[in-house]
Amino acid sequence: MVMAGALGRDAGGVATESDRRCYLAVALDVPLPGLFDYWHDQPVPRGVRVLVEFGRRKMIGMVCEALDAPRVDVSRVRPIQDVLDDLPPMPPDWLRLAEFAARYYHRPMGEVLMPALPSSLRKPAAYLGSRAAGGPVRRADRRPGGASRTQGQAESGPAPELNEEQSAALQVLRALDGGQTALLHGITGSGKTEVYLRLARDVLAQGRQVLLLVPEINLTPQLEQSVRARLPAQAGPGSLAVMHSKLADGERLRAWLRVARGEADILLGTRLALFAPMPRLGLIIVDEEHDTSYKQQDGLRYSARDLAVWRGHDLGIPVVLGSATPSLETWHRVGQEAYRYLALNRRALAQAQPEVRLIDTRRAQLEQGFTPQLLQALEHSLEGGRQSLVFINRRGYSPVLHCGSCGWLSQCPRCTAYSVLHRHARGRHTLQCHHCGHWSAAPRACPDCGDQDLKPMGQGTQRVEAFLAERFPQARIVRIDADSTRRKGSAEALFAQVHGGQADILVGTQMISKGHDYARLGLVGVLNSDAMLFAQDFRAPERLFAQLMQVAGRAGRRDAGAQVMVQTDYPDQAVYQALLSHDYTAFAQAALLEREELGLPPYSHQALLSAQARHLHDAQAFLVEARAQALDLIAPGAVHIYDPVPLRVVRVANIERAQLLVESPGRGALHRLLDAWLPQLHELARGRPVRYGIEIDPQEI
Ligand code: ADP
Ligand code: ZN
Ligand code: ZN
Repeated sequence: MVMAGALGRDAGGVATESDRRCYLAVALDVPLPGLFDYWHDQPVPRGVRVLVEFGRRKMIGMVCEALDAPRVDVSRVRPIQDVLDDLPPMPPDWLRLAEFAARYYHRPMGEVLMPALPSSLRKPAAYLGSRAAGGPVRRADRRPGGASRTQGQAESGPAPELNEEQSAALQVLRALDGGQTALLHGITGSGKTEVYLRLARDVLAQGRQVLLLVPEINLTPQLEQSVRARLPAQAGPGSLAVMHSKLADGERLRAWLRVARGEADILLGTRLALFAPMPRLGLIIVDEEHDTSYKQQDGLRYSARDLAVWRGHDLGIPVVLGSATPSLETWHRVGQEAYRYLALNRRALAQAQPEVRLIDTRRAQLEQGFTPQLLQALEHSLEGGRQSLVFINRRGYSPVLHCGSCGWLSQCPRCTAYSVLHRHARGRHTLQCHHCGHWSAAPRACPDCGDQDLKPMGQGTQRVEAFLAERFPQARIVRIDADSTRRKGSAEALFAQVHGGQADILVGTQMISKGHDYARLGLVGVLNSDAMLFAQDFRAPERLFAQLMQVAGRAGRRDAGAQVMVQTDYPDQAVYQALLSHDYTAFAQAALLEREELGLPPYSHQALLSAQARHLHDAQAFLVEARAQALDLIAPGAVHIYDPVPLRVVRVANIERAQLLVESPGRGALHRLLDAWLPQLHELARGRPVRYGIEIDPQEI
């Protein structure tokens, strides 16, 4: 980028003050489109952070362009307060990634660039005042040996020899062309991790860095151990950096600095790690690529998987997507031969996949949600000294509290949703809303009729745990869900207990269903999966299938005879039938055919305009007008614009929500519409009591 400051533009006259100014376009994390003009008395390169005043606030932004002249009235252009020189300018490939994300997701640059940095690098407070001590980078650098935090003892021992399938896959992956993406489709327990690690080792040996993305932090400890154990000796333990949202600010900054400076060779992290600058990046691996956690659900609603593919392509390096149940988007790309396809069809350690049984609950005598068959299987498992896992995707004690006399239900006062009953120490109960967080003590008597006999309806993890504890007093039961793992380190502790064999029955939500390699798990029981069967979202069956395959895949990873029992009212549903035969391919093909007939993604591209207001009619009215605007902007047939609809949970925290779906067979047509439409929406919303947002490739509709 050429710095085109005002210097030297002087046409022989007397240089004025403003002639010596360099005008700069600065990206700021504010919800306004475009870049903001500032001046400085010297050129500032692109990618450098600067401290500026915005309104009456001090903010840190990033220089994106040098300007020949300000684009607003000169008198309104303010000087940059400080150029932050504690880091070199952000590298060009990092800026390209951010630019692409801003363009693709139709967000202002500042809303992409700034949140992609560790928070202390964008907080003015970290640089101002007596305690700043030269800013967060210098403070981090002064910390003695703060670089690596070796956690636990890496299990050493030689790497296993790859089996034939693994070797064949590795060979193809090694030979991938730069910029190519491959899908490693390996059934659960087939040893995908071992393939990733070998491939990573090659890339490290070439002096390049590896980015390994995982969906959730609770999966990192186990993978972290394997990576540490398998890392080439010369790289040393300090060459691994870990990054996820639960890290403290300082820890995240130190990891980021080590990666950005090329001191760490491997970055293992969740979706946010995708935005780490990596000067020698040579390979990106996205484990469990189908997982919805790769999609950010607020702010910049990006898909880390999709951006990983773009980044790999941009850098000319290979990207490996791994999954037992690939997303239909990825499967479709394989079908188009855009991605290389590699399969691992056999388990690495066990002879076979676990046997799946569907337990018909329609005529069963249920005891607290359990069929006699499942209870018997649990008992067997206990007697045989094997671990069992009970999966129920609902936390809390029960999803609703109910009065039998008058029909009162525990409704959240601020949402159109029920409050969930939770149990605490010393028999205390609360009602908690999982949508807005509102909570109160659970009433002892019905608030409407005074009846003392309130009943919990349905099961959550806590109730399942309590019931099993009563039913199997000899069993050691561990519950893992968002509640039991709230404190830092508690998830690691609970998983350590499970992996250390100090648990007989593991009860939990989807947190326990993914990625973990349980050694002694002989039985998996699934409760209440029907709830997802009839969700309105067209992706619900895909998600349910992936979830069931994942949780089933935890069983019998070392030995034969493992069982999976799924309780259902609808055993004939296609999802369950495909599960019986472990047949991902059949399921995916049928699902894709249906999507094609209905013109749904991946055969079309979508954007979702959502509106929020105190009153639903304001949100709806905004969307109705927005729709009319859009219809004016498109050629007939190019883009389909649906009618606005209220969300299923229409009110959350007293805000009512509606949305409008936009869909097109062509990505280009959709993005052209958005380019023209978004500025109009900005005007349309002005002065109205509405907030709106646009999401590209929405995953939940
Ligand atoms: P996936 O991620 O595909 O579900 P993992 O990578 O967790 O499977 O592998 C399952 C288990 O098999 C792990 O304990 C792993 O160490 C082991 N394993 C993988 N490959 C081999 C191999 N070639 N020989 C022996 N054990 C292996
Ligand atoms: Zn009542
Ligand atoms: Zn609520």
